[in-house]
Amino acid sequence: MDIILLGPPGAGKGTQAKRLEERRGMVQLSTGDMLRSAREAGTPVGLRVRAVMDRGELVSDAIVSALIGEHLENSGTGAIFDGYPRTHPQAEALEILLEERARKIDHVIELVVDEEALVTRITGRFTCSKCGAPYHDTLHLPKVAGVCDICAGTDFKRRPDDNEQTVRTRMAEYREKTAPILPFYEAKGLVRRVDGMQSVEAVAAAIDAFLDS
Ligand code: ADP
Ligand code: ADP
Ligand code: ZN
Repeated sequence: MDIILLGPPGAGKGTQAKRLEERRGMVQLSTGDMLRSAREAGTPVGLRVRAVMDRGELVSDAIVSALIGEHLENSGTGAIFDGYPRTHPQAEALEILLEERARKIDHVIELVVDEEALVTRITGRFTCSKCGAPYHDTLHLPKVAGVCDICAGTDFKRRPDDNEQTVRTRMAEYREKTAPILPFYEAKGLVRRVDGMQSVEAVAAAIDAFLDS
């Protein structure tokens, strides 16, 4: 089963993708994570995308679709596309990449959230350096202070683009370029809406209900 998690920055895509990996053995394919790894490794792609990401604008379709193509084979039991596709050309590229492998999208889960809450979510976000598990300063702290619930790691990090100004740009990009791809998937009958303002557990239960239906 291949699914897309769609929603603005801070909607909870990464949080839900990690949970689906743990519970269902699916594989998270996050273009944001791939781009951040490229930056940390200092690859030519990493150097090219750095400034664009720090401004909160979208990286070119060619770069992100190439990254997805490189990672698609390692998602045997099912992929969770997290943060991809984000534009019409990316949605079309994904159709072709999947078709070539006799795969197709089964569900597009849209996480519907309130924009003002997203600024709070994003500016308080931090993740485990070792396993990437997402946490929040007030909304979702590790059970034991300073220790990752998932891997017991004790080192955490914050993203340079998780500041209010960049978040506003990222939201505008979502509204202008990403939300308009929903009708493409609606026409195929694939869009499942979930209220992303509920607790992490309630959102997860709603997603499970769609995947099991
Ligand atoms: P995205 O991948 O869509 O940008 P994340 O999953 O990283 O979003 O979530 C953004 C922040 O909000 C994180 O700090 C996370 O811990 C927190 N968060 C995620 N889902 C919820 C939720 N349902 N309720 C409250 N906080 C949440
Ligand atoms: P968020 O938590 O805001 O959903 P991501 O980690 O998915 O953020 O993406 C971070 C940044 O990486 C984006 O602001 C953008 O610059 C770049 N990026 C990630 N995925 C894509 C994509 N599919 N197309 C274009 N740019 C992308
Ligand atoms: Zn961890």
